[in-house]
Amino acid sequence: MEVQLTAPNGKMWSQPLGLFINNEFVKSSNEQKFASINPTTEEEICSVFAATADDVDTAVAAARKAFKDASWKSLSGTERGALMLKLADLVTQNAEVLATIECLDNGKPYSVALTENVPEVANVFRYYAGYADKNFGQVIDVGPAKFAYTVKEPLGVCGQIIPWNYPLDMAAWKLGPALCCGNTVVLKLAEQTPLSMLYVAKLVKEAGFPPGVVNIINGHGREAGAALVQHPHVDKVAFTGSTATGKEIMKMASATMKNITLETGGKSPLVVFDDADVDLAATWSHIGIMSNQGQICTATSRLLVQEGVYDKFVESFKAKVQELSVVGDPFEESTFQGPQVTKAQYERVLGYIQSGKEEGATVMLGGEPAPQKGKGFFVAPTVFTDVKPSMKIFREEIFGPCVAIISFKTEEEAIDLANNTTYGLGAALFTRDLVRAHRVAREIEAGMVWINSSNDSDYRIPFGGVKQSGIGRELGEAGLAAYSNVKSIHVNMTA
Ligand code: ADP
Repeated sequence: MEVQLTAPNGKMWSQPLGLFINNEFVKSSNEQKFASINPTTEEEICSVFAATADDVDTAVAAARKAFKDASWKSLSGTERGALMLKLADLVTQNAEVLATIECLDNGKPYSVALTENVPEVANVFRYYAGYADKNFGQVIDVGPAKFAYTVKEPLGVCGQIIPWNYPLDMAAWKLGPALCCGNTVVLKLAEQTPLSMLYVAKLVKEAGFPPGVVNIINGHGREAGAALVQHPHVDKVAFTGSTATGKEIMKMASATMKNITLETGGKSPLVVFDDADVDLAATWSHIGIMSNQGQICTATSRLLVQEGVYDKFVESFKAKVQELSVVGDPFEESTFQGPQVTKAQYERVLGYIQSGKEEGATVMLGGEPAPQKGKGFFVAPTVFTDVKPSMKIFREEIFGPCVAIISFKTEEEAIDLANNTTYGLGAALFTRDLVRAHRVAREIEAGMVWINSSNDSDYRIPFGGVKQSGIGRELGEAGLAAYSNVKSIHVNMTA
């Protein structure tokens, strides 16, 4: 059920391959597997077991039993928090191996995985561990005839489905609040990146969580994912992924009226006004679209620049991309941008680049594959100018290191352009005018607005979208609302 792996950085570990159900790794019922591919070398890393609908049923039964079992149900919030703190400590102790797996399986730079992604997991667990004994109901004073109070109770079994762009962090964002509130979980990982969270599963057991509280499975979306969403004993579905899949999940979850949280796609604008600090705007514009190989749902992929600073901004941004976006082996310290996660994503990004060219935009930088030693799903960081709002590269989520720059004349035009999208996840704006900054922030239709930065999200601050970018919030105190019911209790004091 495990295989010994060694990464190019010399790190060795025992990689679990099974479905983690009831604190044990097991085979899938028909022993089906799928391979995980290293996007840097295009070679197979190993194959993992892929859950069938029957396996999902087994995992849900384990979670349901654990939900009712005293070993979990009777724990106080303080005790649940202690388990989560222990898990956070184990994640920190295993940071190097987790960052290595993430780099190998996803293609993200090792240094980023080690200094940003793994610490985020521990931070999220610690943050919600702190809430576990501080998240309770109210006494509502309605006069002496009635004593009324509310209790926050867990929802039950949560089916959680995550994507491949941040395998560790997306899992932590979902597990943290769910466990804090006393739920049990069946977490389905993304097919493209099945490995790092299986290693975390070992740590879940080591931390002392009772069997069945956290179940972690791999499987195909249409098979295992759909079975989880439709399962009658799953009380809640939390999903992060594409808008198209989010809509399907919403439909499937409606059959049993499940509580849902969805975090889906985006085409986030970044607006630069004439009075902005242009160098600052260019720095954050680079971070906002080129980090994580451009595979970020909140990536600020549309740069809207006011006419007066357009030329200056474009020159400054171009220089940043040329200087900072070093493409290469993700295990190299100097690498900023690794490969796209899969061949399919690589081809998808190149397809969008081709459409930009065909629709008449100008390729100012990149616009082509960038294989390393003839291998890997690398795409040159790509900047388009002469973009029209009707072009696909301006309207559709590319999910790669590819940005479209457009100019505008007035604040009103900027707001119209920013809001002219079916999405509403993030937005950024750059200005030195304090009043305008807050005014425009309110006008932009998005779940999150960054003023004079981009994509510096924080686990203490709510994350989520409006319009077709999602339903509900993760992170921060708001993230707790997705994982408990408020039960009202009325006591007749005249009885
Ligand atoms: P992408 O297109 O980037 O692969 P998806 O939204 O399709 O993103 O996938 C995100 C997650 O949703 C993955 O874990 C995937 O397996 C899962 N998934 C895909 N299709 C379905 C489905 N029909 N039902 C449930 N889960 C699904």
